Amino acid sequence: MVSSRIPGLHRLDRLERLGRLHDVGWLSEAEVESLAHGGALDAALADKIIENALGVYGLPLGVATNFRVNARDYLIPMAIEEPSVVASASHAARVVRLAGGFAASSTGRLMVGQVQLLDVPDAEAAEHALRQHAEELIGLANSLHPAMVRRGGGARGIEVHHVLADDGEAMLVLHLLVDTRDAMGANTINTMVETIAPAAENLSGGRACLRILSNYTDNCLARASCTIGPDLLATGDYDGPEVRDGIVAAGRLAEADLHRAVTHNKGVMNGIDAVLIATGNDWRAIEAAAHAYASRSGRYRSMTTWRKDKGGNLVGTLELPMPVGLVGGSIGLNPGTRVAHALLDVASAEELAQVVVAVGLAQNLAALKALVTHGIQRGHMALQARSVALMAGASPDEVDRVAEQLVKSGDIALARARDLLAGPA
Ligand code: NAD
Repeated sequence: MVSSRIPGLHRLDRLERLGRLHDVGWLSEAEVESLAHGGALDAALADKIIENALGVYGLPLGVATNFRVNARDYLIPMAIEEPSVVASASHAARVVRLAGGFAASSTGRLMVGQVQLLDVPDAEAAEHALRQHAEELIGLANSLHPAMVRRGGGARGIEVHHVLADDGEAMLVLHLLVDTRDAMGANTINTMVETIAPAAENLSGGRACLRILSNYTDNCLARASCTIGPDLLATGDYDGPEVRDGIVAAGRLAEADLHRAVTHNKGVMNGIDAVLIATGNDWRAIEAAAHAYASRSGRYRSMTTWRKDKGGNLVGTLELPMPVGLVGGSIGLNPGTRVAHALLDVASAEELAQVVVAVGLAQNLAALKALVTHGIQRGHMALQARSVALMAGASPDEVDRVAEQLVKSGDIALARARDLLAGPA
């Protein structure tokens, strides 16, 4: 197994870093070559992917080190513009690695397609008819996707839901449950529900309106946890138990308070979105599902939990809907996405989902650990200073010098950066 612990990677320049990842076995020569030139999507190809394309929008693509999930090392590709996310994920992953790594699991993958049925004359009779003909509906849906069935996936079952709209209108909603294997499955499911809608109309006596997948994928959950001895949490003047208790207290606030919960969860999604974007996944779909899942009790709460166990260890958990794909959509078209998948080298979408939630948990741990000790600004501003230096017009050669001077001055402002650039080196 190639180790994800690569000391000093962040101190190398970008090309040296690519060389190191090649030397230790994470990147092939072709991948290094592609990334050396930026690894961006070709503009002519972009023009074939969306409408009215004008160009290609770039984001930094980095890797978080130190991740170990279910006893396997992973180098985590992250596409993100926010400084400090990659560094803090790597930092937290190192702490968890020393504690044995993340444990992760998943519930399998059953997505939902919905057919909304209006003007149903007798809802009970319609439900009965739909249930009686479930196998027929499932067979019809699968008839269009023999390859998905051969892969062991396809439509698996139906549910019938009675929904009362806010204005009192009653409607029936047919759910088609589909195993989409290693794809997110949006197009597969949408084709299926459009196909079965006429049969559902006949059986229910109603009129089909919406026919589309649901992004609330609560039958496609992934879960990560970590158990960390307090000694591993000691930071500067703060001893381990102090940090542990601070993290537990911070977690409890995020469980109870909406203003904190949203910020807390934003931090979780910092890590998750970065991996989703790097791997070409539909991050809007997973964002929507994750926040809805955080509200499943009827109140929006923290996505993670942090507790002290009987042995005094800090125990963190994160469970989220994670309908990621390894194939489908534009995955595979973008050279950066191809490299991201090569780095992760996961065998299934379920494995990717488990790694993604581990990254979310790491990101949350890093943020809480900083917040309950020296605060996040110290680390954050050092990295933010580089963005400010760049905005002020610093060349890549000047950035580190200007950023360092900005931090020393205690005034990380554009005007100060411009002065520093104008002044003697
Ligand atoms: P897709 O349409 O490309 O379908 C996946 C394809 O991969 C299928 O043709 C399947 O046969 C093939 N495949 C090969 N190997 C496979 C394997 N091991 N497992 C499963 N399939 C395999 O992709 P999709 O996942 O159906 O759709 C994803 C796209 O749909 C995304 O771009 C998403 O943004 C978009 N979308 C999302 C929504 C929404 O979230 N509400 C709605 C519409 C479209």
